[in-house]
Amino acid sequence: MNIEKDTVVTLTYKVSDTLGRLVEEAKEPMAYLHGGYDNTLPQIEAALDGKTKGFATLLKLGADAFGQRDEALVQTIAKSDFPAGVKLGGQIKGRGEDGSEQVFTVMKIKGDTVHLDANHPWAGKALHFAIKVTDVRAAIPEEIEHKHVHGAHGHHH
Ligand SMILES: [Zn+2]
Repeated sequence: MNIEKDTVVTLTYKVSDTLGRLVEEAKEPMAYLHGGYDNTLPQIEAALDGKTKGFATLLKLGADAFGQRDEALVQTIAKSDFPAGVKLGGQIKGRGEDGSEQVFTVMKIKGDTVHLDANHPWAGKALHFAIKVTDVRAAIPEEIEHKHVHGAHGHHH
């Protein structure tokens, strides 16, 4: 069956930078509901629309696909103000300079200072997505209603 609105697409992907260095490889296939439900990047949906199981492509995404880096989202705080048990690479909730809630990743712990960054880790980076479609099926009405995939590689609730 072709990938069209209200189909569930299962795919594997491998992300690398423009020099071909591996950034992330999906350990498990990912499933998303196709048709503009904001389950995945619009560029991925556009590349897969009308394709079938077995289709593979290399998608070259520009540096703005995950937004531009915003240096206002980089903060340092004193280690003493830091919740216990958070480690390098861990995430905490905090407030950006405009007061909005942000999820910060712990980038560096140096002396008494903790360096936080709420930018998407891929913000401002041009990336290559190697995608392979491993399955296409029609969505069930409940999935369309919930606007996400249930079952294998989807939501469980
Ligand atoms: Zn659901």
